[in-house]
Amino acid sequence: MSAPMEISLQSATDNCGADTSEQNGIVSEPPPPLAEDKVLVSVEVCLKPSSTARIEDVRSAVEIMLEKRSLSYIDGPVPVPLDDSFLVENVQRICVCDTDEWVENHDILLFWQVKPGVHVFQLSEEGPCEELSGDGQLSSFNEWILPAKEFDGMWESLIYESGLKQRLLRYAASALLFSEKGVDPFLISWNRIILLHGPPGTGKTSLCKALAQKLSIRFSSRYPQCQLVEVNAHSLFSKWFSESGKLVAKLFQKIQEMVEEENNLVFVLIDEVESLAAARKAALSGSEPSDSIRVVNALLTQMDKLKSATNVIILTTSNITAAIDIAFVDRADIKAYVGPPTLQARYEILRSCLQELLRTGILSNSQGGNHLILLNYASLKEKLNMPVMQDSQSTVHLSKQLLEAAEACEGLSGRALRKLPFLTHAALANPCICDPSKFLGTMIDTSRRERSEL
Ligand code: ADP
Repeated sequence: MSAPMEISLQSATDNCGADTSEQNGIVSEPPPPLAEDKVLVSVEVCLKPSSTARIEDVRSAVEIMLEKRSLSYIDGPVPVPLDDSFLVENVQRICVCDTDEWVENHDILLFWQVKPGVHVFQLSEEGPCEELSGDGQLSSFNEWILPAKEFDGMWESLIYESGLKQRLLRYAASALLFSEKGVDPFLISWNRIILLHGPPGTGKTSLCKALAQKLSIRFSSRYPQCQLVEVNAHSLFSKWFSESGKLVAKLFQKIQEMVEEENNLVFVLIDEVESLAAARKAALSGSEPSDSIRVVNALLTQMDKLKSATNVIILTTSNITAAIDIAFVDRADIKAYVGPPTLQARYEILRSCLQELLRTGILSNSQGGNHLILLNYASLKEKLNMPVMQDSQSTVHLSKQLLEAAEACEGLSGRALRKLPFLTHAALANPCICDPSKFLGTMIDTSRRERSEL
């Protein structure tokens, strides 16, 4: 078996928070088109829940709209034109996504350089369908219809090293394409199993769900139906081991049924796979019934069986890198370490939190407004490198304070960072005073307290 591809998902930043002020600039003089040099840019179109329009009709309306308007392309929202009543009636939002890695020097792409790939989707509002395990207590798996309302915005909220999410997306997209085209697995070997491992709270589970959601949108033409089945490996190894074997069988029987429908794209997320290794080890040392080994083996055998299906991707996570069952590691095609957030990622995570507090009016700037824009990390660094920096602007001043807060948060996980603004607010002496600068001061103190409790 070929060695798994290693990529490191050390958190840093992507352009999730990129300023989008220039995105809709009108370009007046189009240079001659160079068809062969065009960059494929994804344009995601979310339909309103009430819309009953046909996907193809909306797609062509958006394509025509994009052709008519001389847009420059940068990741971010594209306004729905108010004079297009069909789009206004049916479309909730249009967004250019995940372009940054393709663009050298992060330049803005002009419309003639771009071939837009328009993906139209409607979010499912059904919510998870839960299955209880044998003991009737623990839920052994959840099932979602994708794209699901619950996962909307999750991909954008996860902040990692530049281009990292795109690499994962491209990997999965290539795997699906190879399957679809019927590439002979004896000649070219690839799996559809992804393993994300690293410390707790670094966003692995969320990244798996967000990836499944993204792929369900990107591949909706080929696979009009898409499901995510989330299995908690830990719950499969409950103390009722004799039940566990049956649970695995029942679970995979259900997955097999889904996979047999060839228009279905199925994602199976197995969380905390380290519990497989733990169960096997415990069984070998005699401290657990040997049933557990049978359950692990049953799970691996079932996964191997699924490998022949081309419309399934197995996503797995583990919090303990060393303890993952070797049999499992061998099966994963892509094995990615997801590390704690770097300074840049911490800055961008906290920046998105602050913007949200401003948007909702929990914080407001000195003029009482909520339109304060904090600089993104790259722009702030640029400003800090200038020989004479105009520090009088509240934007620059606050952004510098935010950087201090991000520095103070070293060692905190992404999960802890996203909780920090809430804890800070609860710690304010007077929560009615919503000055962002004071808030950041308290946030630095709160982060020190949080770190001391690690
Ligand atoms: P894990 O599976 O690694 O334990 P989770 O997926 O449960 O982590 O992460 C919990 C939450 O922490 C996420 O939903 C997200 O809000 C936040 N989070 C973690 N890492 C990041 C990150 N790199 N960027 C943004 N948010 C993050």
